[in-house]
Amino acid sequence: MIVESSSFENSPNESSGNAECWSIEDSSRLFDLDLWGEPYFSINDKGHVTVHPKGEKGGTLDLMNLVNEMQFRNLKLPLLIRFDDIIYDRLERLHDAFGRAIIQYNYSGDFKGVFPVKCNQQRHVIEEVVTCGKQWHFGLEAGSKAELLIALSLIEDPEALLICNGYKDQRYIETAILARHLGRKPIVVIEQFDEVERIISASRELGASPLIGIRAKLTSRSSGRWGNSVGETSKFGLSIPDILATVESLKKVGLLSELQLLHFHLGSQINDIAILKDALQEAAQIYVELSRLGAPMGYLDVGGGLGIDYDGSRTATSASTNYSLQNYANDVVATLGECCSANCIQPPILISESGRAIASHFSVLIFNVLSAGAVSDVIPEVEDEEPLVVRNLRETLTNIQLISKESLNQFSELQEAWNDALKFKDDALTAFRLGYLGLSDRSKAEQLTWSCARALLKLLPRKEVISDDFKDLRSALASTYFANFSIFRSAPDTWAIDQLFPFMPIHRLDEEPKQLGHFVDLTCDSDGKIGKFINNGEPKHLLELHNLKEGEPYIIGMFLGGAYQEVMGNFHNLFGTTNAVHIRMSKEGGYHVDHVVRANTKSEVLQAMEHEPQQLLERLRVASEAAIKRGTLKINDARLLMEHIETSLRQSTYLQR
Ligand SMILES: *Cc1c(COP(=O)(O)O)cnc(C)c1O
Repeated sequence: MIVESSSFENSPNESSGNAECWSIEDSSRLFDLDLWGEPYFSINDKGHVTVHPKGEKGGTLDLMNLVNEMQFRNLKLPLLIRFDDIIYDRLERLHDAFGRAIIQYNYSGDFKGVFPVKCNQQRHVIEEVVTCGKQWHFGLEAGSKAELLIALSLIEDPEALLICNGYKDQRYIETAILARHLGRKPIVVIEQFDEVERIISASRELGASPLIGIRAKLTSRSSGRWGNSVGETSKFGLSIPDILATVESLKKVGLLSELQLLHFHLGSQINDIAILKDALQEAAQIYVELSRLGAPMGYLDVGGGLGIDYDGSRTATSASTNYSLQNYANDVVATLGECCSANCIQPPILISESGRAIASHFSVLIFNVLSAGAVSDVIPEVEDEEPLVVRNLRETLTNIQLISKESLNQFSELQEAWNDALKFKDDALTAFRLGYLGLSDRSKAEQLTWSCARALLKLLPRKEVISDDFKDLRSALASTYFANFSIFRSAPDTWAIDQLFPFMPIHRLDEEPKQLGHFVDLTCDSDGKIGKFINNGEPKHLLELHNLKEGEPYIIGMFLGGAYQEVMGNFHNLFGTTNAVHIRMSKEGGYHVDHVVRANTKSEVLQAMEHEPQQLLERLRVASEAAIKRGTLKINDARLLMEHIETSLRQSTYLQR
């Protein structure tokens, strides 16, 4: 169900307001920051978002100041800020959670994580994960040959695992075998039955074998967007008959001694812990059976799927999870421990391939609002001989204005007035379409409808404003905020899979936001908008935002987007990558900028599409010469035009302030 937000007290455009009574706590509540932001984001006394990259371990940055300081360095918006300390903190939390669970359940195995490269392949990000993860021998998971190359070259720790997933040809497998001799620890996970033959032939070819894992196709029920990653018809994994046949084949050629790992993956963002529990039980039984069949085993890989509570609602809905990291670790450890002890086998080393849970928090996308298109709040002057629809709307407005809060005994009265206004507005549109109403009368009709909405909002208590009857009342007055970014580049999942990310202004949070709005991006695509916002489990279509102030920037942050967004982002309308910076807290306090990754220039995105910027310039130069000759373009203007274009080619694809 979609509901409108419930935090609105007054008419959005009322200028008086109660700014004095508005506190940063109100903002925190309004944007649910205390629910999803913990422990990395909060609000300071200045009304700015603050970042605590080390969680509770201390050290705070004022995000708004940071953004300003980056702009002084000529790093224009939109800007992606990566807080590398958050990656370390996430890894530490993951290992601590499993560590605690292992002690609590007296588990005699160990935990060893890997990071799935597909989640964010950016060099600086992977390097950071590898460096931060060293103390735990944290490894990488590759899902393709190119990712394998990254993993092989970046992991030097012989104890760190390198899980090889995805489709594999013989070269992929041979690379993994050879990497074993290099001193790496790659485990080739059989995902398709025909890979068994390729493993056998690659091993024969090289006279050496890889470490082998099997991905099981679990039959346990699943749910959520990636629910079909499991089940008998899923794309990946071996069915039970295939697993048995694999064991037979490996045994025949003497490779069963290399079968050490069982893998499953339930799909990303598991919302409901009950689904994980079922899968764990099934996988644990398969693990035990594989041991009984003579495989040495030793590892159980529970895949990814550890979810993020994007809206902080703690529910089994798509933007949330009904479990914590600790619940997750406890369930994995307890289920495996129980099953192994019941069957008297040594519990495996547990592997997780959590990507989203590691990489979501550390990056924040910052963009500015270019302008906001709000509906006018002018009541048009009365003129002689106005058409009937316009007079009807005036009358409706007058009637609403005559109602006072005190005299109001039934909301149905207001409901009726609003229905009238909507009907007259429709009539006006019909009359316009048929040619009976001029443009200026149509404009009056629209303005009067908005005036009716505004007058009604003043009369309605908050509870009624959000009821279904009045739901289009607030959207009638909503504003469109034009945002300097492309969702196709920076938040593709909002478009592709309806994913929700927390969006909120990063300043003015000590001020009540009196406008309702949604964001539209720079692309010429009507899908290029953010019109669905987190709201405690029940998404809302409009976000509370501030009215723009003349000459003052309005800066918005998109949070929790560190996983998948960058890689899935595309060149729609030729918007390229944004500027990105890596920020690290320094020991002496404050921060330093570790890396700056410059945004794509227009030249670069043109070249990505096989255009040659120099050639484009040359054609324009020739055209300018012709225009000069014709006398339609002055030489000076021709020079100016070329200068603009040449400069522009060197700049990013976004709007410059
Ligand atoms: C995508 C993927 C992951 C990562 O999933 P998250 O939900 O990001 O943790 C892990 N393992 C496999 C096999 C995957 O395909």
